[in-house]
Amino acid sequence: ASGYSLLRDPQYNKGLAFTLKERETHYLRGLLPPAVITQELQERKLMNNIRQYQVPLQKYMAMMELQERNERLFYKLLVDNVEELLPVVYTPTVGEACQKYGSIFKRPQGLYISLNEKGKILEVLKNWPERSIQVIVVTDGERILGLGDLGCQGMGIPVGKLSLYTALGGIRPSACLPVTIDVGTNNEELLKDEFYIGLRQRRATGQEYADLLHEFMSAVKQNYGEKVLVQFEDFANHNAFELLSKYGTTHLVFNDDIQGTASVVLAGVVAALKLVGGTLAEHRFLFLGAGEAGTGIAELIALEISKQTKTGVEETRKKIWLVDSKGLIVSSRKDSLQHFKKPWAHEHEPVNTLLDAVKAIKPTVLIGSSGVGKTFTKEVVEAIASFNEKPIILALSNPTSQSECTAEEAYTWSKGRAIFASGSPFDPVEYNGKVYVPGQANNAYIFPGFGMGLVISGAIRVHDDMLLAASEALAGQVTKENFDKGLIYPPFSNIRKISAHIAANVAAKAYELGLATRLPRPENLLKCAESSMYTPAYRTYR
Ligand code: NAP
Ligand code: MN
Repeated sequence: ASGYSLLRDPQYNKGLAFTLKERETHYLRGLLPPAVITQELQERKLMNNIRQYQVPLQKYMAMMELQERNERLFYKLLVDNVEELLPVVYTPTVGEACQKYGSIFKRPQGLYISLNEKGKILEVLKNWPERSIQVIVVTDGERILGLGDLGCQGMGIPVGKLSLYTALGGIRPSACLPVTIDVGTNNEELLKDEFYIGLRQRRATGQEYADLLHEFMSAVKQNYGEKVLVQFEDFANHNAFELLSKYGTTHLVFNDDIQGTASVVLAGVVAALKLVGGTLAEHRFLFLGAGEAGTGIAELIALEISKQTKTGVEETRKKIWLVDSKGLIVSSRKDSLQHFKKPWAHEHEPVNTLLDAVKAIKPTVLIGSSGVGKTFTKEVVEAIASFNEKPIILALSNPTSQSECTAEEAYTWSKGRAIFASGSPFDPVEYNGKVYVPGQANNAYIFPGFGMGLVISGAIRVHDDMLLAASEALAGQVTKENFDKGLIYPPFSNIRKISAHIAANVAAKAYELGLATRLPRPENLLKCAESSMYTPAYRTYR
């Protein structure tokens, strides 16, 4: 191959790190200035550049540009600076990038499958340069983060999420495929925007929508086999639950908004019990928000209690209560409830507000997942703190502006007694001379390792017990040192090690359930996970 094409191919390009010998044997002489520098020096140079940008979107664009120019260097930066760069390549910055995708769009980074591709989806998949795909992240752009319908511009989400599959979980970049399904958008601003990159029509629904998704799911299985993981991401809840149950029995599917969130939050709650005491079954849970996140978490908590106490899930669900936009979910509302809320309609008189629900239910754990900010008011926090020595308060709504309360509010209003974690990051808080470090219930703790566990075992279906296995592995990674600071999640700096533990636990469960196809089962799954992980160090070309 010509040296010039090596420089142009992000999978092979090393820039100034090509050695003199490589330059000689691969026709690179004269195509590069004389200096030869190491990957470490390149990394330092680029981090300096990125830190000089004041605007987060500029950092994002610099990272995307690097990904397109030199893939290994991109991942080296991400792996070595994960805490600093996670908010750049993923939430919150990726949200802004999606909103402006039309104007910053340079080169396609994934597959666009629109209604125009109906009947031709298999051909479209064959246009993608890579043959062996292990993980697909797909969105239809209808509920991007907390930002609503961004249509075709949702592509930033699958791209960002897959870069975390690689950096945090070790899935090879070439085995990752970002997909955006474009059935239109109901976002009037985008429909009017001259730079909009998607179909200029309102969203297809009903049979037309179902048919396109079905063609996609069938084509994926036909083209990549049964072991490819399809992660549904940022679908609106009226489609998300249905797609998951429809394809859960025929495909390897996972919804991070429902299942990943559930696993990461359960891990936090289980870890918090070390600080608060009691078993899961001895606690009472109240949610504000009964959508993908809320009911997903609730269901996994009920399942875990049911395993621990050998009680049926119908029974353990009764320890969990949810409030939606119309108040406490109770049995008298059953007729008008969406199906995913029905299991939570317990016997109780109607309660309209969160504060009244807190007083009526007396929860020990309060979880916010409504997407609406400032809902854990002083009165709400004081109420839960009045009957709990250490109330567990999780404010999960993103982005920061939507958080149910701030870390400072949770600690101050509970007089330093709350065990607090949130969806968006908060800085440590000093209260009465003591420093409290809030945890972040970030989905990025779970999904990369979870996916790796499925890949190394060759799993063909996702089972809820695998979510419990992932959760258990994450909770097990919180150290005494972390607990002493009030943390219920481990620091992100160890994420590759954490992911390996999660992958091993998930794979073990896949073998136990008979859902693994990679036989014989590797003796040591942790070693297997570690050694399967992609590392971004440059290779030597001979
Ligand atoms: P969703 O499926 O749209 O569900 C939102 C729920 O909140 C619905 O049940 C809705 O009630 C309820 N709600 C809306 N406004 C309300 C109000 N004023 N009072 C009470 N309830 C209200 O959304 P989702 O996917 O679950 O996401 C919800 C939030 O969780 C988002 O902010 C998201 O960023 C966050 N989240 C965080 C994490 C994390 O921290 N790791 C993970 C996932 C999601 P109705 O059903 O009555 O409309
Ligand atoms: Mn999501």
